Amino acid sequence: MQDRYFSFEFFPPKTAEGTEKLRNTRAQLAPLKPKYISVTFGAGGTTQQGTLDAVLEIQREGIEAAPHLSCVGSSRESIRAILQQYRDGGIRHIVALRGDMPSGMGEIGEFRYANELVEFIRAETGDWFNIEVAAYPEYHPQAKSPRHDLDNFVRKVKAGADSAITQYFYNADAYFRFVDDVRAQGVDVPIVPGIMPITNYSQLMRFSEMCGAEVPRWVAKRLESFGDDRESIRAFGLDVVTALCERLLAAGVPGLHFYTLNAAGATKAIWQRLKL
Ligand SMILES: Cc1cc2nc3c(=O)[nH]c(=O)nc-3n(C[C@H](O)[C@H](O)[C@H](O)COP(=O)(O)OP(=O)(O)OC[C@H]3O[C@@H](n4cnc5c(N)ncnc54)[C@H](O)[C@@H]3O)c2cc1C
Repeated sequence: MQDRYFSFEFFPPKTAEGTEKLRNTRAQLAPLKPKYISVTFGAGGTTQQGTLDAVLEIQREGIEAAPHLSCVGSSRESIRAILQQYRDGGIRHIVALRGDMPSGMGEIGEFRYANELVEFIRAETGDWFNIEVAAYPEYHPQAKSPRHDLDNFVRKVKAGADSAITQYFYNADAYFRFVDDVRAQGVDVPIVPGIMPITNYSQLMRFSEMCGAEVPRWVAKRLESFGDDRESIRAFGLDVVTALCERLLAAGVPGLHFYTLNAAGATKAIWQRLKL
């Protein structure tokens, strides 16, 4: 268990109330001693200042912070400026992504795919940053084919990534197979499962539809049957996600990355059940 690492993901709050809520969530999760906390970034730079503010505050609290950085819609110049701000703030860990263009924002910018961003970060900053990239055990929704997606992932890692965090999934076999396929390409970076706690049926189904994560039919059916009974949804969700984490940990995953959605409760409950 010693060298497994655990990390938490937040999104940058948009209001003073959200900032306070996030501080409270961090205070509850800090005793779990995460290796780092990552903070998402809106594609097209929509949350740029919020991401910067949040990571600097996290670093000041003595926890390693990793900003996400998406490149779609950006110029080299603007990415260079953001990287410099992070370096000035003593940030040494980054999650490099393509991102998705928000609808209505037209320009693709100077980067097309995440591998180009990884290459750029390495060329500009050498070994300063520990670079994470995204992985998709159930394949990226826009991928031409599973094979193509795998090749793209491998290319992205070879561009200079140190490790990867997966999209969330509830089918452990998809993850194991993905890791085997990556290893067969001679790529051995850690691939940390992204874990999405289940607390809200309609939100989960909406997210999953968008990002291409499959909610197994039996899980969806059970969740749906609980209707507005949030307690039953939480209790069942806790069982499902804890069992998934147990299976992953037993198989020797390098760590777990929790998508907290800025709330401490569900992540803490899973943690306690896992007796970590
Ligand atoms: C851990 C994690 C964190 C995330 N955080 C954020 C965030 O903070 N902000 C945000 O906006 N989004 C975030 N996302 C969502 C992510 O931005 C989207 O899934 C996006 O659609 C793809 O980003 P990527 O970096 O995986 O893209 P890429 O790796 O560039 O892949 C995108 C698609 O293009 C294909 N592709 C890749 N390279 C090439 C190539 N050279 N030629 C042709 N095709 C190629 C791939 O197969 C895939 O289908 C996150 C996702 C994950 C899993």
